[in-house]
Amino acid sequence: MFVHITVNSVNAAGLLAVCANNADVSQCRQRFLSFPTYRISGGVATVEYRIDSGLLGDFDSDTLETAVSEVLNIWEDVSTLDFRAQGNGFIPFDVRINNYRSILESDEPLGYSPIVFDENGEIVDDIIGAGSREDILGFAATRFFTSSGGVIQNIFESQALINGYLFRLANRQEFNNTDEMLANMKTTVLHEFAHMVGLDHSQGGQINDFIDSSLTNADRNTIPILFPVAINPSLTLQRDDIASVNIAYPDSSIISGTASISGSVTDNGAGVKAANVIAYNTSDPLGELVTSVSDIDGKGDGNFTIPNLRPGTYVLKVEPIFSDFVGGSSVGIHPPDASTLSIPSAFYNGSSPLVSGLTIDQAINQVFPITLSRGQELKNINIEIASGGGSGGNGGNSQASFRLAGRAINKLNILQFNRPSRYTLRLRKSGSGPRLISLSTEFPGLISFSRNPVRIRGNQRSRKVRVTFESFSNFFETFPEINGSRITIPISATDSLTGDTVVGELEIF
Ligand SMILES: [Zn+2]
Repeated sequence: MFVHITVNSVNAAGLLAVCANNADVSQCRQRFLSFPTYRISGGVATVEYRIDSGLLGDFDSDTLETAVSEVLNIWEDVSTLDFRAQGNGFIPFDVRINNYRSILESDEPLGYSPIVFDENGEIVDDIIGAGSREDILGFAATRFFTSSGGVIQNIFESQALINGYLFRLANRQEFNNTDEMLANMKTTVLHEFAHMVGLDHSQGGQINDFIDSSLTNADRNTIPILFPVAINPSLTLQRDDIASVNIAYPDSSIISGTASISGSVTDNGAGVKAANVIAYNTSDPLGELVTSVSDIDGKGDGNFTIPNLRPGTYVLKVEPIFSDFVGGSSVGIHPPDASTLSIPSAFYNGSSPLVSGLTIDQAINQVFPITLSRGQELKNINIEIASGGGSGGNGGNSQASFRLAGRAINKLNILQFNRPSRYTLRLRKSGSGPRLISLSTEFPGLISFSRNPVRIRGNQRSRKVRVTFESFSNFFETFPEINGSRITIPISATDSLTGDTVVGELEIF
């Protein structure tokens, strides 16, 4: 399975979030959270780029130059983006392992957005880790921004890298010939360019079929180009992609007359972070679907906005973000945490409870339809999932008798390459009386606890637990995305005295 990654932490239904003070986005205070895009001036958002002078896999320079400009036209056709090759269009040299830092990690703007062809994947391996070139097609990021008062405003430079190792016929047995591989390369470039201009991944509307590997070839052609995995072989933007790019770069001929649905996803009234909300048009559910991820604004209220919908009748579905969509392949501002992963996959049914267990076709005939007229902005749709049911369980963390504190470890270099390292986790009590808390993890080979169970006596407020992490090299085997992104390790804690369970996670980034 070949994945695309983004370097920024991300937000969905549209735009990549960036934290102004360089902190992790999910920890970023709202005032510092921004969703920068290239500035539109005179009706267009100009992105000046140069491509690598070198080769990419089996492709020569002419093929690459033509392919890039063809793909850029696809985004330009549905937005106000205007990509312009700067100067002669080429980075002055072949970007290779010995010089890539001057392009990809320059402290100063280059004056253009570089598109690097990593001829044989050596740069990918160097940046992301040995062996990464075998499954990472490429990555892209927004790189330099204008800011005002410490808050980021507009992108003015970004970058992309395409991994040539995966564009050699010898390494891709699924391709019969260079033309098939060229089509795949163009799709990859199409995807990465979207990240360069600030667009995030989308989970689309067929995640369960993707997980079950039951997508038909026709279905694959309806997967958004911004899906984290390169599974749609066509060079065709989907409605979700078009809705997304038009948030940032609205083209009046595209958005004229479109409608929107906004509201919130809540669990017993509390905002749900990172649930995927999908609007399926009842007359063409796979061809005309648009998504939004809840907590789109980072306020914690579970807000979502599904933009740029064509007038018509829709049904709404809510579902968890797929647990594999983490790190550079993530969808939404927040990584899918344990409580979001356990929400139901269900359809909105007006003021009645959600309905689960339906196919899209069944839902179209059974659940509450939402009809949107031209230009309508439908607001305040509350999707209440009501999964928690009071204290205990995944949804009830806020009422539990204790909590996990100090869960975010904001320095990846806590992990030594070949040596274990330690971190202190704190269990903090709410209310009085003793606790006897058992900790468990899905990765017992990677982390262990200095004491387990943990006793907090009646006269103690909290208790520290030393967490031992195995070496970076061990983590890398389990989480190849770890370098340059973030991993989350779910931890479950159960108090045998009160029966409360808290599901939390350790985040390393
Ligand atoms: Zn991507």
